[in-house]
Amino acid sequence: MVNKFMRIGYGWDSHEFKRGVALKIGGVAIPHSSGLAGHSDGDVLLHALTDALLGAVAAGDIGTFFPPNDARWKGADSVMFVQEAMRQIRQQGYAVSNVDSTLIMAKPKIIPHAASIRARVAELVGVQVDAVGVKAKTPEGMGTDNAAIAHVVVLLTKKTGRASKLKAAVEQVPQTVVDTVVDQVLEGAEPVGAPEKKRISSRTKK
Ligand code: MG
Repeated sequence: MVNKFMRIGYGWDSHEFKRGVALKIGGVAIPHSSGLAGHSDGDVLLHALTDALLGAVAAGDIGTFFPPNDARWKGADSVMFVQEAMRQIRQQGYAVSNVDSTLIMAKPKIIPHAASIRARVAELVGVQVDAVGVKAKTPEGMGTDNAAIAHVVVLLTKKTGRASKLKAAVEQVPQTVVDTVVDQVLEGAEPVGAPEKKRISSRTKK
């Protein structure tokens, strides 16, 4: 039986280094002589994260939502891939519990940027910084010195409260409908801070 309360997801990606391209890892710009080639901005960590999120809810992979032959995603900021994956998991009532990742590349050194990467990833998936792990390895004996590789695992937990269920349901309603309902509720509501009507207790009647 499928575990409805916790789901694990795993993602992997690799990109080749290319001169004259800006390097972006985990949504953070990193100064380096070359960046990662790809149809989008080549952010290897955010691609692996997107696949991990989608995999956790069995919603396909990054290519399902963003086909690489589609001109719309040329040079795209990979943050939008993560945002779509987050929408998919939230629609199913899940939230991210924690993320762990390993980056494998010969250069540049990742650890000096790990704090920034953790903060950005935490912000994107809605967790505290201490729920995001970023580890770095060099590809000893792998022969992949001109590539960047990322592995990511995520743990999702189901939000079971009524407020969370309502939030997940609202996220599936088109924004225009939500706006209309909110407007109607606000029109019918009493002004904030209006004095409460005096209650006549049965005792005072006597
Ligand atoms: Mg990729």
